[in-house]
Amino acid sequence: MVSRNFFTDNEDLQFHIRATDWGKLLPLLEAYEDPSDAFTDPKEAATFYADMLETIGQFAAEQIAPFTEELDSQHPVQNGEEVETAPRLAKILNGLAEMGAMGLMMPRRVGGLNLPVVLGSAVSELLARGDVSVMSAYGFYGGVGLVLTSYAIEEGNFELDENNRITSMRFDEELKKIAAGQEWGAMLLTEPNAGSDLAQIGTKAVEQEDGTWRINGQKIWITSGHGEHHIVLARSEDPGKLGGLKGLSLYYVPAHIEKDGERVRNVEMGGLEEKMGQHSGVAATINLEDSVGYLIGQRGHGFRGMLLLMNNARILVGFEGLGIMEATYRQAEDYANERVTMGKPIAKHEMIADYLDEMKITTIGLRALSFEAAGNEEMAHRLRVKLKIEPPESHEEKRALEKEILSYKNRARMSTPLIKYVGGEEAVRFARMNMQILGGVGYMKEYGAEKLLRDALILPIYEGTSQIQSLMALKDNLQKVLRNPTKALSRFAALKLEAVTGRDEMEKALARVRVVKYSAMQSIFTRIVSDKFGDMKDKPLLEWKASFLKTWDPAKDFSFGLWHAERLTKILSIVAISEALVRLARRVADTDDGPQRRAYALQYMERFEPKAKGVLEEIESYGPSLLDRLLDRTPKDA
Ligand SMILES: Cc1cc2nc3c(=O)[nH]c(=O)nc-3n(C[C@H](O)[C@H](O)[C@H](O)COP(=O)(O)OP(=O)(O)OC[C@H]3O[C@@H](n4cnc5c(N)ncnc54)[C@H](O)[C@@H]3O)c2cc1C
Repeated sequence: MVSRNFFTDNEDLQFHIRATDWGKLLPLLEAYEDPSDAFTDPKEAATFYADMLETIGQFAAEQIAPFTEELDSQHPVQNGEEVETAPRLAKILNGLAEMGAMGLMMPRRVGGLNLPVVLGSAVSELLARGDVSVMSAYGFYGGVGLVLTSYAIEEGNFELDENNRITSMRFDEELKKIAAGQEWGAMLLTEPNAGSDLAQIGTKAVEQEDGTWRINGQKIWITSGHGEHHIVLARSEDPGKLGGLKGLSLYYVPAHIEKDGERVRNVEMGGLEEKMGQHSGVAATINLEDSVGYLIGQRGHGFRGMLLLMNNARILVGFEGLGIMEATYRQAEDYANERVTMGKPIAKHEMIADYLDEMKITTIGLRALSFEAAGNEEMAHRLRVKLKIEPPESHEEKRALEKEILSYKNRARMSTPLIKYVGGEEAVRFARMNMQILGGVGYMKEYGAEKLLRDALILPIYEGTSQIQSLMALKDNLQKVLRNPTKALSRFAALKLEAVTGRDEMEKALARVRVVKYSAMQSIFTRIVSDKFGDMKDKPLLEWKASFLKTWDPAKDFSFGLWHAERLTKILSIVAISEALVRLARRVADTDDGPQRRAYALQYMERFEPKAKGVLEEIESYGPSLLDRLLDRTPKDA
């Protein structure tokens, strides 16, 4: 049975729209924007947001999901320098533009609705559930709009009226076309020799006397690269003087420019890739040949500027993953309820029931963490805007605001790689489980299960691979412990105690999964230390901290940790999701939602605590022989 509305059939998604604290966000969202049509009452806003999601949920169910086969069979076509969008995708994007959905998160003065980014993320989930290629193409309208707006604010490139309302900003003309759905953009980072390792970027940018730049190089696999507004990461500094990531700057490069009164191409379409999935979408090679570029932000700060927005993009992959997880779960559940073997629906056979149960609770868990992280990221962004436009006068107030921003930013930063990791990996695993539940039917093209798997397989690759997310998660977490080992140790001890003596079942379960995390980090640290210092390993953490930090070389000394980075990330993800579920359960404990949210938190931990312990066992027991081989050294016991 195909649902007619992907929002109203999703109780968990509706809960998040109901439970989000819009009252905290709303004043910041509206503070510097055109006040006409602005919401002031959070309840009114929440009702409007739910109505809007219901409209998009219906569109996704009726105008996207029934056409996935068509979206899969149609490809974009390059005609000379221009590219024709695949017809069904073009029709869907037009439909979204007619609904006013392209400018959801953009300011009202450019034709947008100035809605929260958190809400835009929920829209992405609904569209991805319909078809992930639609969500991906859609993301390069609002997403690029958001990127350009954020850069203009960071640069201070805007005008205010007497009430501190923004009246115009850099990129307003571009934003108007994006909000109207006429144009879109793309992010150009990857090159043949620079994927995960962006320090190898070779595309060169040279400043001209008139302040513009000329850019030369090749970018590959650019999603929606046939758009008008390119954001390009290029090398602005002499690699001999300032190499690696420090020599990069960010540029705005329009696909067309005016030359001698004529509109000519500024970037060359170097061809379209044939991909294994998301066939309607474009992955293009873009050749930059003396292309005119305009610096965004500060020269030499391109990588930092890109990171500013990467968090959002990575959280969005979490929502994209949720869309696929929801689509695969629903297909599997519907089929399992109908297909009868050995006298009962396969949904009632224990192993299949177990799959379905795992799919449901994993989706609920990831959604809890994703909404929380998207909220933290958005609060950090909105408060940064406040700091820029209305910096507090007193030193203390300014410090307090900066501290608040940092706190939101740090919380978002710690969970972002985990969301990207889980969203990508679980989307693939779910698609595989769905195929298995459908049996032979899953293998046949007609039912679309294999398409979901093909479409999902890109999620663990783009926006930073799963391995790169794992490296980030490992480094951030180990460094956090290193900064304050005393605190980590006393926390570990307290958790161990609570895991045994705690009175509340949910809090006790949470303490137990947290103990697994600290045990994993302790195990990795102990191995790093024994590897580095040999005889220090039996001494207390506090004693080796000083010498450890003095001689610490992250490029080399993390080796043992790096080896276990993905394993640790699995544990960190389970803990972060458990924490998000428990926080939600605590927050709504006294409402009608209370019992259900508590049950979800317990259900998730019941299922995932043993998984975390299994991964801990791997970390604790795998011998270091591979490491010896990698570092080309004699094994310790040889
Ligand atoms: C369909 C599609 C769309 C894309 N869209 C865009 C886009 O719009 N814009 C854009 O700029 N790019 C885009 N990309 C590129 C994408 O971001 C890169 O493919 C990705 O960053 C990985 O880079 P790579 O393919 O060069 O792999 P590599 O960096 O060569 O990595 C190969 C493998 O090695 C692993 N690896 C690399 N370094 C390490 C390490 N230090 N430790 C452990 N493992 C490591 C990786 O995880 C991966 O498994 C797209 C790619 C595809 C396939």
